[in-house]
Amino acid sequence: MKLNILVLPGDGIGPEVTREAVRVLEHVAKKWNHELVLSEGLLGGIAIHQTGGPFPDDTREKALAADATLLGAVGLPEFDELPPSQRPEKGLLGIRKALDVFANLRPVIAFDSLIDSSPLKNDIVRGADLLIVRELTGGLYFGQPRGIDVQDGEETAVNSMVYRASEVERVLRMAFKLAQGRRKKVTSVDKANVLENSQMWRRIAARVGKDYPDVELEHILVDNCAMQLILRPTSFDVVVTENLFGDILSDEASVLAGSIGMLPSASIGDPLPSGAWRGLYEPVHGSAPDIAGQNKANPLAAIGSAAAMLNYSFGLHAEAAAIEAAMQAVLASGNVTADLKPKGAPATTEQVGQAVCAAIG
Ligand code: NAD
Repeated sequence: MKLNILVLPGDGIGPEVTREAVRVLEHVAKKWNHELVLSEGLLGGIAIHQTGGPFPDDTREKALAADATLLGAVGLPEFDELPPSQRPEKGLLGIRKALDVFANLRPVIAFDSLIDSSPLKNDIVRGADLLIVRELTGGLYFGQPRGIDVQDGEETAVNSMVYRASEVERVLRMAFKLAQGRRKKVTSVDKANVLENSQMWRRIAARVGKDYPDVELEHILVDNCAMQLILRPTSFDVVVTENLFGDILSDEASVLAGSIGMLPSASIGDPLPSGAWRGLYEPVHGSAPDIAGQNKANPLAAIGSAAAMLNYSFGLHAEAAAIEAAMQAVLASGNVTADLKPKGAPATTEQVGQAVCAAIG
């Protein structure tokens, strides 16, 4: 099979972790005889430095031409004080919108070998296996009006949570379909006691849920969900929610997996006419400037994102399963980076990538 993949290393630890994900993809392509066609592009801070903007046209064209895009992370401290429209993260929002990948899938699994890495009690975390489905192209991150201006003589900031019913319905349907392939439970998260936006969300969830009678539907308020994720994480299967709530809850849920360096993500939209899913695959973590360039970032979230790419965009389930099994073997060996609990000296980013390849065989 021909795998036409765009790689966007981005900023900070992005290049380090994507290098290892590409190493694993190359290894898999060789072992299973796939033709890997890789191109590279700029996104984020590095794109601002080299082209003047975070999401250059060249990157847009390459992403639209590729079957799938593997992204590292974006964000550099030097841009922290700039308004959102001039920051590297604008590139991230731009590419998600351009590819119309409206659902961000974030699996969170408490692997037995990592259970001691979580600050939570073992008996609470053990067995946790949930999938957060975050709406990705609507809500506060995109809604208009937005901006900072002066109203009645005082500086005033405005962001708008805007959702069209069709945007809510399509992500909810995806969550129900995913739940059918799992433990058949959807938890729909909202703030319906306060926000009109959430009242519409909850109404649509109830209506859409009737089309999936084999799936149990539970509604929960976002503040309560934040608490329950820590108190009873094993009771969740698929958690579906709007953009900002999903952003926050998935970082919180990373504690269950032991480290944010463990969490992969897949962003997908509707299938293309060809039947393929053009997806954007990226670790949940950011550019981690505090450890960038030190060869100590955990690459497993990026490698797991590459496995998700093989699964969703290319239907290569055996290859994806082999990567995931190899990741588990590496975790069990204790040959892991410092953010987990290494047995002995922490492994480097590069050593973990090499160990995953070796475990694939
Ligand atoms: P972060 O995820 O970059 O880092 C949070 C903490 O987790 C840091 O201590 C970091 O060292 C650690 N960490 C993150 N990834 C790790 C890994 N793979 N291995 C080991 N440790 C890891 O979040 P932040 O510090 O809030 O943000 C830093 C920059 O990244 C900001 O500019 C932010 O806007 C950007 N960001 C980008 C994305 C993205 O590209 N998708 C997501 C979140 C934040």
